[in-house]
Amino acid sequence: AESANRAKSMFLANMSHEIRTPMNGIIGMTELCLTTPINPEQQTYLTAVKSSADNLLAIINDILDFSKIEAGRIELDTMPFLLRCTVSQTLQSIAVRAAEKGLTVSFNPSPDIPDALVGDPGRLRQVLINLVGNAIKFTDRGQILVHACMAEEDEQGCLLSFSVQDEGIGITPDKLDRIFDPFEQGDLSTTKSFGGTGLGLAISRNLVELMGGHIRVESETGRGSTFTFTARFTIQQNPQPTEEAVKAAPETAPPGSVTPARKLTILVAEDVPINQVLIETILTRYGHDVTIVGNGEEAVQAWQEKPAGYDLIFMDIQMPLIDGFQATRRIRELESSQGAHIPIIAMTAYAMREDMERCRESGMDDYISKPFMPDDIVTVIGRQHLATEAKPEESVSVFDKQELLERLGGKIDLLPRFLTLYIQNTTGHLAALRLAIDADDPEQVRIQAHTIKGSAANISAHDMKVTASSLETEAGDGQRDTWHARRTQLESEFVEFKAVVRPYRTDLSE
Ligand code: ADP
Repeated sequence: AESANRAKSMFLANMSHEIRTPMNGIIGMTELCLTTPINPEQQTYLTAVKSSADNLLAIINDILDFSKIEAGRIELDTMPFLLRCTVSQTLQSIAVRAAEKGLTVSFNPSPDIPDALVGDPGRLRQVLINLVGNAIKFTDRGQILVHACMAEEDEQGCLLSFSVQDEGIGITPDKLDRIFDPFEQGDLSTTKSFGGTGLGLAISRNLVELMGGHIRVESETGRGSTFTFTARFTIQQNPQPTEEAVKAAPETAPPGSVTPARKLTILVAEDVPINQVLIETILTRYGHDVTIVGNGEEAVQAWQEKPAGYDLIFMDIQMPLIDGFQATRRIRELESSQGAHIPIIAMTAYAMREDMERCRESGMDDYISKPFMPDDIVTVIGRQHLATEAKPEESVSVFDKQELLERLGGKIDLLPRFLTLYIQNTTGHLAALRLAIDADDPEQVRIQAHTIKGSAANISAHDMKVTASSLETEAGDGQRDTWHARRTQLESEFVEFKAVVRPYRTDLSE
């Protein structure tokens, strides 16, 4: 059964890649075409192509997500994010659809809910998009209200309750129980006119449950529906400026303080001709200089010819001769003697989480997934340049690289492997710690804290060592009231640690 399941996952990963690559060409080229001088008739046809392609992609993503859930392969991210910002950005992205139907969408967070949280903002977004998307689909006039309030709060964690209320067609009582089941839809006549796969709510229910919450619906035919779900998050201890905050910054920063974009020299490794044209067009439109090569080997060569000549590399993953992973490892290997680091951004049609991890592990700094939009490219470039130009001072208390290097006898090439090992092990121990706390088992809590302390000390992660050590003592004394706070603190320190060591994780081993 296990190997059948693995085979299924592999099949899905491959299908996902095979489907997303041509979708990238279709969507990207259509978008570009729409920005060229065309007559109104052509504009109408192309807009229809674009909208069909977007729909097709949404269906493919639903099927993939659902299969991943079936295979138990969805894992949640644990990252800091700002709640209000995340929700408003999400709603903005679908407000256009609502406006087209003359509907308004408003967001009403209650003032007592915290903003700086740790959790999986991407999955939260996905659930909201599903629910608000349905509300828009099944409503003809009126308002869609999104509320958020606190359901439960303990030391550092909170259970938030979100609701999405519409004034649409409603759901008949006999359907209410079943709409969360996969492939369940309202009666055939509505399905025909509204479309959809019947997977949205099944996926949402699974995601919400993974986030430690529940989802339910109340509805009255002809009057409207209210979907309510809860989800658990941890509260950030020392809120750091997050990616969202950085991205949102230009809007709130005083005029003139935004760094002007500068012209970059960019190397692109991509083998599919239509994608080469697409990315070259987008990049040159933004005024950058672009060199295109067709495989990993050429990428390494081009970079070697003028290592200081490029500001950035976009690297496809699947390419002939040597692939993007190998090419990146080669470049990182060659760079390590010079202490240089060129940002490498993966362009990947792989949608699976393990593949994102593989990108990071082979030394890539970021990724965009195909199909990408021009905006994605601009955002990712911005992120790299914000990251290199406005990098926060590295704090020795998060990770003392010098100390670790001394312990490794100056062997810098050992660094990536040790960091990766530490990250893998600690991910496991933090999960075990969470279980031990849930099971109210002081002895296990002490043992896990002890293990985390030991490995943190070995890798010179001082903050984590100190926190784990306090937890070890407290658990040993049978003291329970600090457990949750310590665990949350350890988790956010771990997030910070991973961010700080990322540039050093140019792992050359598999
Ligand atoms: P679909 O892709 O068909 O929208 P979902 O799983 O998202 O699949 O929804 C399942 C069914 O639940 C829909 O086909 C529809 O009949 C019903 N439904 C979901 N949300 C609403 C809503 N806001 N108002 C009315 N009916 C809804």
